[in-house]
Amino acid sequence: MNNNKLNTQHRYVIIGAGMAGILAAIKLREAGKHNVRVYEKADRIGGTWRENTYPGLSCDVPSHSYTYSFEPNSEWTRHLPPGPEVQAYFESVVAKYKLEEIISFNEEITDCHFKNNQWHISTSKGNSDCADFVIAATGVLHHPRIPHIDGMEKFKGKIFHSARWDHSASLENKRIAVIGTGSTGVQIVTALAECAAQLCHYQRTPQWIMPVVNAEFSEAEKALFRNDPIALKSIQNDPELEANIERFSVAITEPDSAAMHEIENIVRENLENSISDPELRERLRPNYRAACKRLIYSENFYQAVQQANVEVLLEGVDSIEENGIRSADGTLREFDIIVLATGFQADRFMRPMRITGENDITLEQAWADRPTAYMSVSIPEFPNLFMLNGPNGPVGNFSLIEIAEQQWHYISQLMSLVESGQYQKVSASQTALENFDKARIVAAKKSIFGSGCQSWYLDAQGVPATWPWTRAQFKEAMQKPDLSDYCLA
Ligand code: NAP
Repeated sequence: MNNNKLNTQHRYVIIGAGMAGILAAIKLREAGKHNVRVYEKADRIGGTWRENTYPGLSCDVPSHSYTYSFEPNSEWTRHLPPGPEVQAYFESVVAKYKLEEIISFNEEITDCHFKNNQWHISTSKGNSDCADFVIAATGVLHHPRIPHIDGMEKFKGKIFHSARWDHSASLENKRIAVIGTGSTGVQIVTALAECAAQLCHYQRTPQWIMPVVNAEFSEAEKALFRNDPIALKSIQNDPELEANIERFSVAITEPDSAAMHEIENIVRENLENSISDPELRERLRPNYRAACKRLIYSENFYQAVQQANVEVLLEGVDSIEENGIRSADGTLREFDIIVLATGFQADRFMRPMRITGENDITLEQAWADRPTAYMSVSIPEFPNLFMLNGPNGPVGNFSLIEIAEQQWHYISQLMSLVESGQYQKVSASQTALENFDKARIVAAKKSIFGSGCQSWYLDAQGVPATWPWTRAQFKEAMQKPDLSDYCLA
């Protein structure tokens, strides 16, 4: 039994002040742990909701579900909230819990090294820190994937990635190209169809579109939520929505289930019934199964692409020239603005930070094959370092806030083994990770994500990097760690 730390406060360093880092900071303080520092590379909190400011940005998870369980929000304006509203929600939570005082802004962690049972940390400002625990809440989708397209540097207009929106670019009556048809590209095209003179959507791969009604909450509903905490809790934990999300979760893990066939029918009918021109309909028809890529929810994308000022192109982008884009078929189209809605490098997580665990093993070495974490939270030989929304966690069309809260419940039990003085360090065992990964990969290949399409869910070997079981099974797994899967010393 080690009593060294019993009478002192352990120190906690949180990497990132996005949704998960804010959660960790609140939970630590709530548990009476006040020696906490959050390092944030940017000048504001918010993570993905700070980075993405593109027109049409909205959350495709229902607002009352995309909310901390302990901070319901009576003021959501819509079923699917606009991005700025989500950012404002996180800012209000940070203000309420007075978290600014423990966040170091514009300070990126560059190096973490585990030595003598502590993490030794260096930052971009040349500062150093020492922590008993590191919580990596860096997020997944934060390094833009910029394609290398011949001649890109020659373009005379404005060209930028969706997560680096250039707000100095006026959009009204401009000729705009959007490359990419993920959730982002679809939202941008839908919004820009309203103002562009000419809008060309370069779709390398069409997407299935799930119809949705993005209803506004009326003033009466908001007043009810404001004045009646039970009504607010009821909408936050709406049993019908819960059942739908669970059905979706079953569908993606069991591609032959009735739940998946139901999704396929809905998106197929949406395409058949919404697009009147048969030629355009075929351009928009994917040749892979629904939800193989992240399913896109949209109220009016199909309406937008049928406007006279919008063209959907399947011709690949060959090169970019001074005045526009040359397609693979040789056609040059001229543009004022090119938007790269080309996604993110989803395998980065904490990188490019240098992270070195026990026996001088680096994260690059540990992740040489693929990023992995036992139960998505712990990496062997990286003791007392835990990840929120790390690799192999559940992804799909459900709330990552909920996932992070469940992970916190699990992680806090592991940390308590060290906090109590019983042990000095805890990390998943190599055997536990190997067994977990073997079973995970077998199941992942059978999931809908492994059914034959390209997506950011796949690792470099083409295997879905995701939690392949249901959301309910993840919740169950997060109830209590099995300590036989951990190295405790
Ligand atoms: P994405 O899903 O990875 O989509 C990237 C798109 O760019 C794909 O259509 C891809 O085509 C295309 N692309 C990439 N490189 C290209 C190239 N060189 N030439 C032509 N096309 C190229 O990225 P995303 O749309 O930014 O979305 C990423 C994730 O962010 C989403 O899946 C979701 O998890 C999250 N997100 C969520 C919301 C929300 O409402 N909650 C909104 C936006 C984003 P291929 O399909 O052919 O590879």
